[in-house]
Amino acid sequence: MASVLPGEEDRWRCTACGNLTRFDVVRTTRTREYVHADLSGEARVEEREVLAETIEQVTCRWCGGVNTIELVARPAAAQG
Ligand SMILES: [Zn+2]
Repeated sequence: MASVLPGEEDRWRCTACGNLTRFDVVRTTRTREYVHADLSGEARVEEREVLAETIEQVTCRWCGGVNTIELVARPAAAQG
């Protein structure tokens, strides 16, 4: 079960079907936002800082596998 996002040197892979590219990710994100409202009351988020992030579930888009995602190394060619 993938519980972290892939870093610069690895990526997700579905062990059931081999999918490397398409996943549904459910994540909980705790953020601090700088909200800037104009005088009419219309508010916009101008800055967003992620304080904490938890990957809750990664699902394979191809086969629907839920506990089939693993982290594998990226191919060397993709690192350049
Ligand atoms: Zn799959």
